[in-house]
Amino acid sequence: MKAIRIEANGGPDVIALTDIAEREPGLGEVLVRNHAIGVNFIDVYHRTGLYKSALPNGLGLEAAGIVEAIGDGVTRFSVGDRIVYANGPIGAYAEAHVVKQTQAVKLPDAIPFDIAAASLLKGMTARFLLRKTFRVERGHDVVVHAAAGGVGQIAVQWAKHLGANVIAVVGNDEKAAIAKSLGADHTIIPGRDDVAKRVREITSVGAHVVYDSVGKDTFIASLDSLRPLGMMVAFGNASGPPPDINPLALAQRGSLFLTRPTMFNYTATVEQLDETSADLFAVIEKGAVKIAAPTRYALSDASQAHRDLEARKTTGSLVLIP
Ligand code: NDP
Repeated sequence: MKAIRIEANGGPDVIALTDIAEREPGLGEVLVRNHAIGVNFIDVYHRTGLYKSALPNGLGLEAAGIVEAIGDGVTRFSVGDRIVYANGPIGAYAEAHVVKQTQAVKLPDAIPFDIAAASLLKGMTARFLLRKTFRVERGHDVVVHAAAGGVGQIAVQWAKHLGANVIAVVGNDEKAAIAKSLGADHTIIPGRDDVAKRVREITSVGAHVVYDSVGKDTFIASLDSLRPLGMMVAFGNASGPPPDINPLALAQRGSLFLTRPTMFNYTATVEQLDETSADLFAVIEKGAVKIAAPTRYALSDASQAHRDLEARKTTGSLVLIP
């Protein structure tokens, strides 16, 4: 089968389409024929080596498809089921993939494969951020960085659905218009606007929570945007890892809370995975969160998908079609 492999860490050019042998599913595993594959910023971190993984390796953690074979002990799925997975193992950029039954969920009939691959990892991220890491309630002032991106578009809509006052931080006017169309109450463009100053003008005392996936370029401005006892959620490194900080920096800004969460800890058990994905599918099916048609690339164009994502050219989600 065709699959993406990387022999070494590096730029998008290390991504190569190769032929590899398909493997039989083992105990508790299923073989999935992928119909649409999610592209996530974490795939860039795996490719560059910011997040270490053994090499040579595949890429990608997420895809939606049909169960083609099941290993011994599989009880969650049958051959022919439509399923989606977002917890790897690494290697989803391929025509087919073997995953543990405990790391996949059944796909509701109403959700097409491309929408599922565009939304499971990003939507479960939005869900744990807004419902678990900091529980957003009606009237909270919430800052969402990269608000027109994959996670961002879902987070803006979900936060609005929860009744928050949403302040969207985006890279340009076109992205600001997208965030507004999804319900954002305010938009801020770093470089043109002073992020912390604008958040303070809008909220008078600062935000209850900042969801910062940009990292290096925005981390300090995000801290400066919070009210006393506010929660800084640093959940990504799109511009590079955030700087080291002294805990005193949190005290000086008003006894702030700081967390650096990852989805994998919030969906580690099958119960957490089922609860998180069911909540996501529910907000999608009732229309509270709309998943824009993802930008599609052929599997063989995975390197171009990475180039576009890293160059901040994309909005919403990207999928690869095998
Ligand atoms: P996005 O579609 O959001 O793409 C990244 C966006 O980050 C860009 O579009 C851009 O938006 C913004 N950005 C700002 N500075 C840079 C830069 N220097 N280089 C590249 N992008 C930049 O990607 P995803 O939806 O896949 O992921 C969003 C973020 O969420 C990532 O940082 C990812 O690591 C993180 N994440 C974390 C998870 C976790 O469990 N902790 C799980 C899933 C995602 P703009 O131009 O508007 O600034």
